[in-house]
Amino acid sequence: MSIASIKALLNTTATFSLKETLAFLANEYKDKVVFSTSFGQEDQVITAIIAKQNLPITIFTLDTGRLFQETYDVFHKTMTKYKIDIKTYFPEATAVEELLNEKGPNSFYESVENRKECCFIRKVAPLIKALKGNSVWITGLRAEQSENRNDLDLFEYDSKFDIIKFNPLLKWTLKEVEDYLEANNVPQNTLHKKGFVSIGCAPCTRAISDDEDIRAGRWWWESSHKECGLHQK
Ligand code: SF4
Repeated sequence: MSIASIKALLNTTATFSLKETLAFLANEYKDKVVFSTSFGQEDQVITAIIAKQNLPITIFTLDTGRLFQETYDVFHKTMTKYKIDIKTYFPEATAVEELLNEKGPNSFYESVENRKECCFIRKVAPLIKALKGNSVWITGLRAEQSENRNDLDLFEYDSKFDIIKFNPLLKWTLKEVEDYLEANNVPQNTLHKKGFVSIGCAPCTRAISDDEDIRAGRWWWESSHKECGLHQK
């Protein structure tokens, strides 16, 4: 994948709507377009658009084994409402067993290194499996979610996973996301109404107050960059 290919994609889709761009990618890259969802608000917008157009895009999720029950509820509701398959990837059982046997179930609170180890086993390794052999990875990242994400592009080459990344909601505001979900009656995680904005694993996510940064509720005990290795920015 070259910079020229990314530029060509940007040029070709410059005047397309989000729906048109998704349909174009599905057609151009056939069965090699995947979308990762963790059932957050942004992900639900993209899921609804893919489902309504019945696009041949594989939707997948990473079940870390430590998710909130509320996340499983919206997972189930989404599959049922749109009658879609959501492919689920689990961490390798032996890797989880070894981690827990060696360090216990909550080692992620003890150091950034331990936390990254857990994220690698439960998220990154399954993601590598999910992306393997695919050409385009659609994400629900938005620029205002964190400083790290401010310099993302609509299309970019992700060298870590050797794949084109498409971030269609990059410039959307949270209000635009919420308005879309309300207007289209899209299932939402009930935790959003309780102050949870960015929702990940249960032991590593807390609600935030109005004056806190959107990512403040993730790994709140750390002062690191608040990313888990799935996204480089
Ligand atoms: S978010 Fe927490 S529980 Fe989930 S994979 Fe990362 S460290 Fe483990």
